[in-house]
Amino acid sequence: MSYAAPLELKSRWFMPAVLLLIVLLSAVVTWTEPYIAPAAAHQKALLVESFARGGLAGYAEAAVHAAAWVFVVIVFRPMLLLAAVVLIESRLASRGEERKNLALAWTVRAAFLIFAYALGLLLARSLPALPGPLFDFTDSGSPSWLRTAQMAVLLLITVLATDFFQYWAHRSFHRFRFLWKFHAVHHSPRDLDVLHAFQHPVEAAATWFLVALPLGALIAGVDAGQFSLLAAFFLVQSHLAHTKAPVHLGPLGGLLVDNRFHFIHHSREPRHFDRNFAAIFPVFDRIFGTYCKPEPGPLPKTGLGDRLPPQRLSHYFLAHLPPEDRQPADRPPA
Ligand SMILES: [Zn+2]
Ligand SMILES: [Zn+2]
Repeated sequence: MSYAAPLELKSRWFMPAVLLLIVLLSAVVTWTEPYIAPAAAHQKALLVESFARGGLAGYAEAAVHAAAWVFVVIVFRPMLLLAAVVLIESRLASRGEERKNLALAWTVRAAFLIFAYALGLLLARSLPALPGPLFDFTDSGSPSWLRTAQMAVLLLITVLATDFFQYWAHRSFHRFRFLWKFHAVHHSPRDLDVLHAFQHPVEAAATWFLVALPLGALIAGVDAGQFSLLAAFFLVQSHLAHTKAPVHLGPLGGLLVDNRFHFIHHSREPRHFDRNFAAIFPVFDRIFGTYCKPEPGPLPKTGLGDRLPPQRLSHYFLAHLPPEDRQPADRPPA
């Protein structure tokens, strides 16, 4: 069955409905933050109390509280969104050729999420030590109409600056051997789908230094509500970019990154190598000369030519990609 076939069976409203569902769901998931935060504080107090009590029972209780906190705050919401997209993908996309270990995929996804989140919390402490920010919108005495206009400009600058730094961070992951070792994990799936679009925690840390630090030095003033909105937008964007379901942005794909654009970046075809680095706006690839226009038709085949995706949890953490075993039939006759 061809890649585009399942979509032709649906009404023309199906794709907008799916997109709307993803946007709504991610907004709900992200906006539950203020309601989850007090619960997290309560959970943290229980953890500290149990740990202070000591003894086997106290420590066991503390471990249960810690696990509950990690599950509710870090894993549950992003995994909920992921589950929805995986479900949509499984309904719309044809089955790939590669047999996949789904339990391993979900475990790695959750484990990497926890590591990246913990790392982010740790690194965020260094933000106040930064010089700047260059543009500070935190305390403005402007009239409300001017303030609204300022905030709109601020959000636009923030998204553009984020993508500018992301673009160059991404190019350095491909340019420098040490960074490539970890980024290669993300490029290894041969039948890329939204569940298998992992990023290694070392890559997450490098992204933090290359994107969040310069951004923090440049701009201040995005409040928690606006940040949630941006986070929802980035979350949807990254899921859309990695789904093999035939759900793309159509003509809007020239302005915003979607799966047709990003699968070229993951492609195994040499003419696609080192193309389409942008995460949000394809315009950065146009400006810096790395743009490749998506063509109609099936998504390109993905993965690395000579390496397989990690096969075990330890492979994922150590960024070990096993070399491809050539089948005896592939060998030239003796
Ligand atoms: Zn890449
Ligand atoms: Zn990707």
